[in-house]
Amino acid sequence: MGDQVKYVLDESRIPTHWYNIVADLPSPPPPVLHPGTMQPVGPDDLAPLFPMSLILQEVATEREVEIPSPVREVYRQWRPSPLYRARQLEKALQTPARIYYKYEGVSPSGSHKPNTAVAQAFYNREAGIRKIATETGAGQWGSSLAFAGALFGIEVQVFMVRVSYNQKPYRRALMETYGAKCIPSPSMETNFGRALLAKSPDNNGSLGIAISEAVEVAATRDDTNYALGSVLNHVLLHQTIVGQEAIAQLEMAGDYPDIVVGCTGGGSNFAGIAFPFIGNQLRGGPRVHVVAVEPAACPSLTRGRYAYDFGDTARLTPLAKMHTLGSSFMPPGFHAGGLRYHGMAPLVSHVKELGLIDARAYHQVACFEAGVLFARHEGILPAPEANHAVKGAIDEAMRCREEGVSRTILFNLCGHGHFDMQAYMDYFGGRLVDQDYDESELAMALAGLPSVTEPV
Ligand SMILES: *Cc1c(COP(=O)(O)O)cnc(C)c1O
Repeated sequence: MGDQVKYVLDESRIPTHWYNIVADLPSPPPPVLHPGTMQPVGPDDLAPLFPMSLILQEVATEREVEIPSPVREVYRQWRPSPLYRARQLEKALQTPARIYYKYEGVSPSGSHKPNTAVAQAFYNREAGIRKIATETGAGQWGSSLAFAGALFGIEVQVFMVRVSYNQKPYRRALMETYGAKCIPSPSMETNFGRALLAKSPDNNGSLGIAISEAVEVAATRDDTNYALGSVLNHVLLHQTIVGQEAIAQLEMAGDYPDIVVGCTGGGSNFAGIAFPFIGNQLRGGPRVHVVAVEPAACPSLTRGRYAYDFGDTARLTPLAKMHTLGSSFMPPGFHAGGLRYHGMAPLVSHVKELGLIDARAYHQVACFEAGVLFARHEGILPAPEANHAVKGAIDEAMRCREEGVSRTILFNLCGHGHFDMQAYMDYFGGRLVDQDYDESELAMALAGLPSVTEPV
């Protein structure tokens, strides 16, 4: 024991710029389309929802986007986040691999999400916006935006997927502590919510439904904007500080990864750790094997179709080309709530199509097994979502052992699981089961994809 190695950077090493992978890709991602005209959306189409600064980041092509100094000031509270070498885990696995993990659980809300929440709150406040509506699944994004809203004097209204609202009262309490209003979705606050509840009063909700409600509120009220915690280009951009810091920390360790692993819900923490390394490779640097790990119960990258689809259930959002299970797809209830989204970030999807990353899917029991093994050797209790990345990294380490080769593995430990103890209790109680989605439901959701003639 006691030989854990921690790589700490001074505050002055917080990145000054976010990294935009679009600048280095051999081809740009397909444009986002207006659902009415099927033409690429322009900045004005998005102006009812987002401040212009974020809209411009959404379509930015320059490699580096400067981080405003008030945002860097806030980052100083917990950044640069630590990078650890998982020596105890390596020993337990008897692997010749070197395993490193970047720990994003040190932020106030316990995950990587404040990296973008703080930036989004800052730009909205700068544009004079005083209210933001958003959605949350497991509550990680809602509590992160609530924290950022409190810092910048913005009222935050969170539509929380009803099943999580009931199952995770502590996340809700955290949002309320930061001063946000948390509403179970579907709700009576929107036309879409009222229509759903009229049909099925006990509707459990989904991320797609909650997004529809938040977008409806933002689109119909002048004083209110919308914010999304994943999927969009600007969100992925904000997360790239994670990978940039990791590059500097691995340099301290005299190392560089052969393999980079992240879990994928909407794709933001994965992009955050992976894109700076993929960028290095694209500019002639070392090759990295990049692995996206998703839940087998909601496998957009491994089983979805690469097609234009809506981001929400009510079909209010623009159409984005992404790996999707269909916007009407209802994933079964499993514990990694942050990974229950029907689509994958268009940029991650594009990078997958370009052959720059691999994807694999795991069932939840195997992920909890990996998370518990990790906690017993490294002391940190991962979020259920992060357990997918832990499992991916352990599998790579075991492959090194079988092949008798040493490789350097880096993974993103994107959050702690202190608010998810019920999931761990269910695991220890043998109540956690591996759920598969319904094949016929997937087929139906995919058959319902909008038909789009792509602009040339
Ligand atoms: C939200 C969340 C995720 C999933 O979102 P991504 O955009 O894919 O990162 C994963 N892990 C944690 C801890 C989260 O809070």
